[in-house]
Amino acid sequence: MSEATSEPLHGAQALTTSAKQRKSREIAPGVHFLAGFGNTTFLVGSEGVAVVDPGLLTSGPRVVRELRAITDLPVRYVIYTHGHYDHAFGTPSILADARERGHAAPDIVGHVNVAKRFERYQKTSGHIAKTFDFQFSIWKGDGGDVVRHAEYHPPTIEFTDSITLDELGGLELECHHGLGETDDHIWVWAPESRTIVGGDFIVSSLPNAGTPFRVQRYVLEWAQALEAMAAVEPQFVISGHGGVYTEKAAEMLDVTARAMRWIDTEVVRRINEGQWQEQIINEVELPPEFDESEHLQPLYGCVQFAVRDVLRRYMGWYDGNPSMVFPSTRAQIATEVVGLIGGVDALLARADALATGDAADQQLALHLVDFVIFNQGEGLAEARRRKADLLESRAAGERSFVAHNVLRSAAAIEREALSD
Ligand SMILES: [Zn+2]
Repeated sequence: MSEATSEPLHGAQALTTSAKQRKSREIAPGVHFLAGFGNTTFLVGSEGVAVVDPGLLTSGPRVVRELRAITDLPVRYVIYTHGHYDHAFGTPSILADARERGHAAPDIVGHVNVAKRFERYQKTSGHIAKTFDFQFSIWKGDGGDVVRHAEYHPPTIEFTDSITLDELGGLELECHHGLGETDDHIWVWAPESRTIVGGDFIVSSLPNAGTPFRVQRYVLEWAQALEAMAAVEPQFVISGHGGVYTEKAAEMLDVTARAMRWIDTEVVRRINEGQWQEQIINEVELPPEFDESEHLQPLYGCVQFAVRDVLRRYMGWYDGNPSMVFPSTRAQIATEVVGLIGGVDALLARADALATGDAADQQLALHLVDFVIFNQGEGLAEARRRKADLLESRAAGERSFVAHNVLRSAAAIEREALSD
């Protein structure tokens, strides 16, 4: 068994390399792990199969191919750990496979909020497609295609807190809801093999508990879900992105839960002391115990993004500065500043000087070139070129996949605007 099991990869590898391991592997009897951009798990009973997370729409055919290399049994359940595009959208391939084989269509199992999520996705599909490109830096619309071509298959078996699935033949599965990356998240517990399929509660890095384009995520409840997982003492914990935890499962669950609790507690403490967003976002850093943990590296999300989601959870949008209640536009402010300085030369020269400095200096340089860009007059092209360069430098220094991609995509937009 130990041969078939590996500890998770760490580093950006955890997010990308594992997807290249095209074959599924049996980590425990009847538990098959298939790495993908979002991982898939097959749980095989004597009468049927549960597919947990069929992955991206485009992953569906590979998921079916890998499943059929293992068994000819019908798929009884397709279980969504949550309704994200990289987890719950490979379903059409599984339904087509069932039709071709003359099997009954599988039940789709998910939390009651999955259908509401799908409705929201369809309602805001233009926005989601656009921000998908940003988040994954799949510039030129390929990422948005995942959204535009999506087929929505909501759960046929919905539940609120938990449900037991027992029609697989000698294999029972418990599905438990918890808030975390989403409000429709669940984790699956297979008691016989002591396996947890954790979805994106487990991402082989610092939890992605806040991301710039997405709706509210739940830092404190994320910790509670991880604590509930630890309480069942799993032998295997399968991640949504990354690998499978074995010996280090308990340690990973424990340190991650404690870090998430720490972030929530620290932000709330500061809010209650009367601090505003700017100070909190700039000052909160993980204590060394968490910052240095191999389980908590900021490879996908980052601490600042999680802090922002805690702020959003407990505060309104007022940022402590009454000038911002009914603010002027950025263009109006920039035009005033450029007019007072008597042109854009001083701004661009100072930006160039700062551009040779560290990330903080480069960040300041971005704000200076923004005055020139928002002014939309003299020096616009020079400012856009500098902004693209600065964004690329900032991106190169960012470990977080999302932060890196946002900056890199923004640089591409500036270059595109330049070439038009
Ligand atoms: Zn995911």
